[in-house]
Amino acid sequence: MSIVNKLAREELIDMVPYQSARRLFSSCEKSEEKRVWLNANEAPGTGKYQLSSENINRYPDFQPDNLLNAYSNYCGLNRSQILATRGADEGIELIIRSFCKAYQDNILICPPTYGMYAISAENHGAGIIKVPLQNNTLDLKGLEKQVGKVKVVFLCSPGNPTGNLLPKAEIIQAIELFKDSAIVVVDEAYIEFSLEETSTDLLKNHNNVIVLRTLSKAFALAGLRCGFTLASEEIITLLSKVIAPYPISAPVAEIASKALSSDLSIMTQRVQRCKQTKASLATWLSEQNWCSEVFASDANFVLFRCISHNEKTRIFDLLVSNNILIRDQSKQLQLENCLRISIGSEAEIVAFKNILTTVNG
Ligand SMILES: *Cc1c(COP(=O)(O)O)cnc(C)c1O
Repeated sequence: MSIVNKLAREELIDMVPYQSARRLFSSCEKSEEKRVWLNANEAPGTGKYQLSSENINRYPDFQPDNLLNAYSNYCGLNRSQILATRGADEGIELIIRSFCKAYQDNILICPPTYGMYAISAENHGAGIIKVPLQNNTLDLKGLEKQVGKVKVVFLCSPGNPTGNLLPKAEIIQAIELFKDSAIVVVDEAYIEFSLEETSTDLLKNHNNVIVLRTLSKAFALAGLRCGFTLASEEIITLLSKVIAPYPISAPVAEIASKALSSDLSIMTQRVQRCKQTKASLATWLSEQNWCSEVFASDANFVLFRCISHNEKTRIFDLLVSNNILIRDQSKQLQLENCLRISIGSEAEIVAFKNILTTVNG
């Protein structure tokens, strides 16, 4: 046995890391060919930002002023209720590390859901209790049975990969159920696609709530790695003890605050375009003979089910061989034969349809 394997935490040796879209298909390999990336729910197009990088010899502020002020303006909460993180993913990890004792406490997830909750829990040695969604909404009876057995509950709204918002009334019921025993995290990575449905107003009257946000989706800044944890001042103070001392690099703070302080209509127009493209794609999918179900989506992607395993594999492989990458979700609970496509540019979606039409027609 190698010295590393002898010393490492045993459970990490066989652990499979998160299979991110980028790990499955590296952006470097085959770079001579132009690939269409529709597998990670990124926004299409490019952004151009000027960097001053003047004070790069200095450590950045723990929470850069310009960034926190900009997000405070955007979300309508006090600065003391906001923690900027290295993507929403770091928020997930901090919450688990702050509330769960390793090899003792559990988190609760509602599959099919975002993979990082379980990965972060596993990494930390927290247990995972699953209460599957029922018809893409919460199983409140199932949740009630877990009261007292979990420390953190992760809800994803709009859900990834399902796409739909959870009814606000159900989110409130879940928060009430766990009000004396667990933190309820509402992951709002895609909330800009229906901002009026946000749960941030619940922070006022419930002190067991955390809302997660990101600049990776509607703000088209996935490469920047910037997210926000929104919660009571008490929770933010706690998480601040666990996060790294300089979590946000100066260039990240500079670009992120520019994106948030500039005309927000750039973002809202991007959201509008996405919704139009999504609606016509959903209609088109529902008309294909190989497609048996198109899931309703309040986000920037569409999940659809193929009529058989063979058809699912054929469509996925056909797209890959034409350099169009979408995401296979068929291994997730309840999502047999399902694929997920991110809403790219109009041209990218046309290319997707053409590949599938030419061969079928
Ligand atoms: C993309 C995504 C995240 C991660 O966002 P980052 O800010 O890029 O880390 C978190 N939750 C859900 C549901 C997501 O889809």
